[in-house]
Amino acid sequence: MTLPEMTAFFAELGEKPFRAKQVFRWIHQGGVDQFDAMTDLAKSLREKLPNFARIEAPKLMTEQASKDGTRKWLLDVGTGNGIEVVFIPEADRGTLCVSSQVGCALDCTFCSTGKQGFNRNLTAAEIIGQLWWANKALGKDPKGERIVSNVVMMGMGEPLANFDEVTNAMDIMLDDHGYGLSRRRVTLSTSGVVPNLKRLKDRCPVALAVSLHAPNDALRDVLVPINQKYPLAELFAAIKDYLTAAPRDFVTFEYVMLDGVNDTVAHAHELVQLVAGIECKFNLIPWNPFPEAPYQRSSNNAIHRFRDVLQQAGYVVTIRKTRGDDIDAACGQLAGQVVDKSNRNRVIRVQAVDSAATEGAKRAA
Ligand code: SAH
Ligand code: SF4
Repeated sequence: MTLPEMTAFFAELGEKPFRAKQVFRWIHQGGVDQFDAMTDLAKSLREKLPNFARIEAPKLMTEQASKDGTRKWLLDVGTGNGIEVVFIPEADRGTLCVSSQVGCALDCTFCSTGKQGFNRNLTAAEIIGQLWWANKALGKDPKGERIVSNVVMMGMGEPLANFDEVTNAMDIMLDDHGYGLSRRRVTLSTSGVVPNLKRLKDRCPVALAVSLHAPNDALRDVLVPINQKYPLAELFAAIKDYLTAAPRDFVTFEYVMLDGVNDTVAHAHELVQLVAGIECKFNLIPWNPFPEAPYQRSSNNAIHRFRDVLQQAGYVVTIRKTRGDDIDAACGQLAGQVVDKSNRNRVIRVQAVDSAATEGAKRAA
């Protein structure tokens, strides 16, 4: 529950609104999952609450630690399904990479999560439960501060295909009584679900990353199939509009480097043309392999040549360090444990209906 939802819940129970705030703080700031441990609640309330509610994060299945300090947890979300959450320590921050779905329906050709198929959306509880879990597992730094300073919605799944649950979970991340993260420190990465990017601008603007991966529609149609539905012109119009409300005045374009596919100097020049007029930075991601994938990672030379073209055009470019690849925790390697692989097509149809309905409702309004 977000804080407003919890406040409504306590009102229904005939309790004062400040009780909601107390419980919310116990859960998210105290890491507590037993009502009995909430010592400033009346004993009668502590005894009453378990009849109406439970506090439950996904359970730990396995834990792995990389040589480079990256940690990956596989969490149980029931009926044999598991999701992965990854912690990436850096000198000046600690980033948690959070999953939004069990698998992903969008089927990008270079992504291991996509190849797993899709089972279901995660609930807001399961999404925030990943941050709750990581904070508990990591403890605090010597200054008593939390170790997770940044969240990226870049784990398994497409966050904008699970809009309501993801935005509710982000509300809790941002809430001063929850995790108190600033909007600039929460980044949502999307492959381009355009109607929901428009909704995100009004509902919960956070820092934005867009998985671009190709400089033209013909290639992007193949690598990121959602492009067939929402081509680059529509995506770019939505990004420009989003930036008018975003906490950062630029978008980060993620671009996976696939040998011989999208990594030539000609592609880089085409990309410069494409992004003209958009405030952006680039994050080049050396492709991370997974079994039976039909790609190779670009050579370091190719990546550097590509970067140089973008830099000469005046753009800030970073090359993403590959972290945690010895434990399959690097970008695009998260496969979790996805049981039912048959839902992909069904879900794409449901989304099509949903977004048509959303657009229809907008026009009507
Ligand atoms: N669904 C969202 C967020 C999750 S993926 C999205 O696509 O943006 C996070 C990033 O990792 C995306 O940019 C994605 O394209 C990239 N990625 C996927 N598979 C990869 C792989 N095998 N190697 C490197 N990056 C990959
Ligand atoms: Fe889904 Fe993102 Fe992977 Fe594409 S890259 S299949 S949208 S998780």
